Amino acid sequence: MDQDFTLNDVQVAMTPEERFEEYLQSKGMRNTQQRRNLMEIVYSRHEHFDADTLIDQLPRKGNTGYVSRPTVYRTLAEFVDAGLLRKFELDGRAVYEHDYGYPQHDHLHCTVCDELYEFQSDELLQLRRNVAQQHRFRVTSHRLIISGICESCSRTPRRKRRKQDLI
Ligand SMILES: [Zn+2]
Ligand SMILES: [Zn+2]
Repeated sequence: MDQDFTLNDVQVAMTPEERFEEYLQSKGMRNTQQRRNLMEIVYSRHEHFDADTLIDQLPRKGNTGYVSRPTVYRTLAEFVDAGLLRKFELDGRAVYEHDYGYPQHDHLHCTVCDELYEFQSDELLQLRRNVAQQHRFRVTSHRLIISGICESCSRTPRRKRRKQDLI
């Protein structure tokens, strides 16, 4: 497992498959083999991914497990709507990760290797409570991405850095 995924899963009542079945039923939709294929690959490991990296991992057209591009986009939106995946913007692209069964956390984004590192902070949640209270605001969620250069990139640059990366 990637070293940046240090957080433990949280206990949930249903499997992601069961939760998705329930969601589809509530919308009057039926599960399909393509949706099942995607669910299996998305839940095979925890990672940050975009639609293109997911499509790259899928079998090619004509092979078992193939899912068409429009179906990938539509199903990812359904996974988000069902509360299974969390979606956030990173440099203008949509990034997805597990939400159901995975704890609330924030990210450090290395602009050299493009890696996302996860962290949890009680101080940050306390700050969120305080700020919300001051503004009589009911919090539903937040996103924080800290941009910079990670430890290993600072020590041993793997590729030649652009000038702006060094500033
Ligand atoms: Zn890095
Ligand atoms: Zn994450």
